[in-house]
Amino acid sequence: MRPTALVLGLTATLTLIAAGCSDRSAAAGPKPYPLNTCPITGEKLGSMGEPITVIKDGYEVKFCCQECVDKFTKHPSKVMDKVKSAHEPTPHMGG
Ligand SMILES: [Zn+2]
Repeated sequence: MRPTALVLGLTATLTLIAAGCSDRSAAAGPKPYPLNTCPITGEKLGSMGEPITVIKDGYEVKFCCQECVDKFTKHPSKVMDKVKSAHEPTPHMGG
C-alpha cells in the first residue's frame, strides 16, 4: 500500500503583480564608471585609498579623494564630458 500524495499545487495563483508599474524606462541604475583613474588628478583609483563614488546624471563617477569630489561639485561639466565620451565611441580616433 503506497499513498500517492502527489498533489500539484496549482491552486490559488497569486495575481498580485504590478498594480501600477507601466513605466519601464532605464531605471536600472547608473552607468558604471568607465575609467579606472580619477577624472580630476588622473591618479589610479585605489592608490590613494578607497575611491569615492558619485552619481551624476545617471552616471557613476569615481574619485581618488574627497578633495576631487569637491572640485567636481563646483565644476562638473568637464568631468561629465570625459565620463560621457568614455562611454560613447569617439567619432574621430587616431591621428
Ligand atoms: Zn583626488
